[in-house]
Amino acid sequence: MAKCPACDRDVRTPLFLNLDGWRHLTCPHCKARLEMKPPRSVVLGPLIAPLFVLARQGRVFEVIAFVFMFATIVLLLLESVRPKVQLRKKPLPKPTIQLNIDGPSN
Ligand SMILES: [Zn+2]
Repeated sequence: MAKCPACDRDVRTPLFLNLDGWRHLTCPHCKARLEMKPPRSVVLGPLIAPLFVLARQGRVFEVIAFVFMFATIVLLLLESVRPKVQLRKKPLPKPTIQLNIDGPSN
């Protein structure tokens, strides 16, 4: 469950990996089109690699790198279980393949 930012009521959110469900998510109360807020912990991801390079410098850095990695994974899991939604500003993506049924046949 997430809170609709437009009417502040509960919205049933699809599963984190159900991208099609997210693409068509609308608030059942006010019909606002919603999308998933990108999890904040994603920004921590790119920091893991340099930390593990640093970890070769000594035990302390090794421990820091592992703690940081676990914290990032736990945060990501927590945020994917309880996703936040925001109002969708962009229009729905147009289908790239268009059926041309009525067009002249070659
Ligand atoms: Zn709403």
